[in-house]
Amino acid sequence: MGSGKVSLAEQPRSERSRTASDDWRRSLAEAIRDPDQLLSRLGLTAVGTRLATHGQKFPLLVPESFLSRMQSGDINDPLLRQVLPLAEEDDDVPGFTIDALEEANFRKAPGLLHKYEGRALLVLTGACAVHCRYCFRRHYPYSQEPKRLDDWEPAFAALEQDDSIHEVLLSGGDPLLLTDERLSAVVRRLESIPHLRRLRWHTRLPIVLPNRVTFEWLDLLTSSRLTPVVVVHANHPHELVADCALALRQLTQAGVVTLNQAVLLRGVNDSVEVLAELSERLIDLGIKPYYLHQLDRVAGTAHFEVPEETGLSLMAELRKRLPGYAVPQYVREVPGEAFKVPLAERSRTNAD
Ligand SMILES: *Cc1c(COP(=O)(O)O)cnc(C)c1O
Ligand code: SF4
Repeated sequence: MGSGKVSLAEQPRSERSRTASDDWRRSLAEAIRDPDQLLSRLGLTAVGTRLATHGQKFPLLVPESFLSRMQSGDINDPLLRQVLPLAEEDDDVPGFTIDALEEANFRKAPGLLHKYEGRALLVLTGACAVHCRYCFRRHYPYSQEPKRLDDWEPAFAALEQDDSIHEVLLSGGDPLLLTDERLSAVVRRLESIPHLRRLRWHTRLPIVLPNRVTFEWLDLLTSSRLTPVVVVHANHPHELVADCALALRQLTQAGVVTLNQAVLLRGVNDSVEVLAELSERLIDLGIKPYYLHQLDRVAGTAHFEVPEETGLSLMAELRKRLPGYAVPQYVREVPGEAFKVPLAERSRTNAD
């Protein structure tokens, strides 16, 4: 690590912060990668549970912090469900494909996706700290994307040439798997593009690897001329406790606008009680529920799908229970549409 060529200036760092920054890398190195080990840590065995056989392509990956928020002895634990590779992943289900979002059509330069007006997305890395079994980019051709900072120049140049773009999304994979030095270099380069106004971070690390919320990263967010927006990704209220809740508080107390996106997942959060509690906990932490995504129909994820009709009834119930600001937008991505399409419940007065 750290051997990549960094062509932009690095900032000097104190001994204390270097130690803190290394914590998350150690946590990542110590993450669980073996399904049997994961189950046995929870007092479970694989007996009666059929696991996927394709393990090499998208292997299990779970940091200790996330594991510590699962309930022992419960094979149906909603956090375990998100990360345990079940045999259903091997099923070939019609309609579930490799590139369900047709993202390949929107690749404007290596690592740059420009799909929506005013916003463009940089795929900064293919790596994640957790492997979510329902991931919509699980088949993304990350190996074709840039690795060293210099390789990003074509993407930066494309951003430079299009002054309709006001916001850059840092995504992946998980952009926070890059070191703070590397992120700082990326941010400084983006700051040099005059028409950019906002920098949006799409990351699950504050949820699954909370010690990644380092002082250096917070400082990078709050010292930039680009207004920061952080979009985290939690699907169940049990995720938002302990070290995760503390990390999220650090983020919101630093004054950073923080939103959450969730995916509607069978066996994880397909109930009004769970979705309502997820929203309430987010609001308690100062985070606005942003999107509830209808599952993208990506190969290997069919067993997580909740029918849209069910999703719509859940949303109607949520609206009754929660203040309007705590209700996320239920959306679906439709290739070719100019925005993520809101799935709307019909009001009683409009119903025929
Ligand atoms: C989801 C997404 C965005 C952001 O969309 P918002 O509706 O602004 O959250 C931008 N670019 C790409 C390629 C996306 O998939
Ligand atoms: S954190 Fe996001 S990109 Fe990474 S595996 Fe999970 S859903 Fe996919």
